[in-house]
Amino acid sequence: MKLPLTLTIDMFERLPVPFGLVRYGVAPDHPKLKQPTLVYDKIARSAGFAFLGNVAVGRDVTLEEVRSTHHAILFACGAELDKRLGLANEDLPGSRTATEFVGWYNGHPEYRDRSFDLSGDVVAIIGQGNVALDVARILAKPVEELRSTDIAAHALDVLAESRIKEIHIIGRRGPAQANFTTKELRELGELKGYSTEINAQDLLLNPASQIELENKTNFSAAGNVEVFRSWTARVPAAGSKRIVFHFLQSPVALHGHERLDHLTLEQTELVGPAFGQTCRGTGLTSILKCNLLFRSIGYRGRPLPGVPFDEAKGVIPNIAGRIGEDRGLYAAGWIKRGPSGIIGTNRADAVATVQSIAADLDSLDPRPKPGASPLRPLLASRGKRIVGYEDWLRIDAVERSRGESKGKPREKLIHINEMLSLLES
Ligand code: NAP
Repeated sequence: MKLPLTLTIDMFERLPVPFGLVRYGVAPDHPKLKQPTLVYDKIARSAGFAFLGNVAVGRDVTLEEVRSTHHAILFACGAELDKRLGLANEDLPGSRTATEFVGWYNGHPEYRDRSFDLSGDVVAIIGQGNVALDVARILAKPVEELRSTDIAAHALDVLAESRIKEIHIIGRRGPAQANFTTKELRELGELKGYSTEINAQDLLLNPASQIELENKTNFSAAGNVEVFRSWTARVPAAGSKRIVFHFLQSPVALHGHERLDHLTLEQTELVGPAFGQTCRGTGLTSILKCNLLFRSIGYRGRPLPGVPFDEAKGVIPNIAGRIGEDRGLYAAGWIKRGPSGIIGTNRADAVATVQSIAADLDSLDPRPKPGASPLRPLLASRGKRIVGYEDWLRIDAVERSRGESKGKPREKLIHINEMLSLLES
């Protein structure tokens, strides 16, 4: 196949609105991280590009239907399922996933009706990645500072009544292995009304961690440990609420009758070489009383009907983005390589897959393909209202104007029905 002079790209999206994790994952108080939407907006307005929102491949249209109408399909559907701790009582009321909480405060239509009881004193967060930091920061930030963000109104109301006094962030490995972006870790130490605490003993690193820290490419770890060290010298202001970091602690049991009451944590130790250190239990346990727990231990992809899936890794198996032997199926982002990296990492990853597609053009089906045009009447006959990019711009305008009166960049519509009925008016 010759390189086409013009490409037609149809983007299918399950929700009626674009932007995925940028809209529903990035924390509302980090608006700069939402700037990729500006790039997307430019692309979406280009000739040959169509947004087909409110259409789920595998539910509203089959993979075969999309395949027969397009030369290549690229899956960029992320990793939306949570990893599990694999402990009894994991789903006890009070034990929640970070995903639910993040989706809820960001007004995701599938999480908007979750409820969170913030009436207890103590919250535990399992996991030491950037999502754990987001959850801790949103719980701890003065509500006044969130009012001018695009946080969902329902979340703001609940956070305003929060009685939380302690947030414990628990990692099964050490401070040198915590997966935080240093700037965001530092931000946690600057929250009004909270002190950040860490046991100075935890900063006595083993030789392998010391090697990890001295490696110039591992600047986040070095930066994080520096921040932790600076915190040990601080004296908490009288009456301040607490954010406490625990290292080398792994949850082994959740306890409670009708709802979570406490956790058993087992002390761990690091084993293995630098950059390959894992943790193993020491048998020493302690109890942490907590009324609410957030599991923030990473994600896995959701298998798609008819697409190969690696159950162990939770990704679509691929080589340089190519899925299987036949050319025409590709993957990019978290569904390609697992839930790691920041937004920029995924951009580079997408470029790599697009290079694979470009290199494969000669091996793709040479017959002309119509793109989504025959799928549009098919979807209509199935009762599906496709939401195009122009439609999204109408939703966007309504959200912005509802936000304006409250001093927010937008008040997101949180009901799919409301989005769709607005488009009928
Ligand atoms: P993550 O960075 O992979 O962190 C997951 C944490 O969970 C790690 O501390 C991990 O410990 C721990 N963990 C995993 N399994 C566990 C288990 N069974 N028991 C106890 N702890 C366990 O994942 P994430 O925080 O969900 O973030 C996902 C990606 O999104 C990351 O790349 C993150 O940087 C990115 N993100 C970026 C931003 C931002 O740039 N502002 C915001 C949010 C998320 P081990 O290390 O020992 O496995």
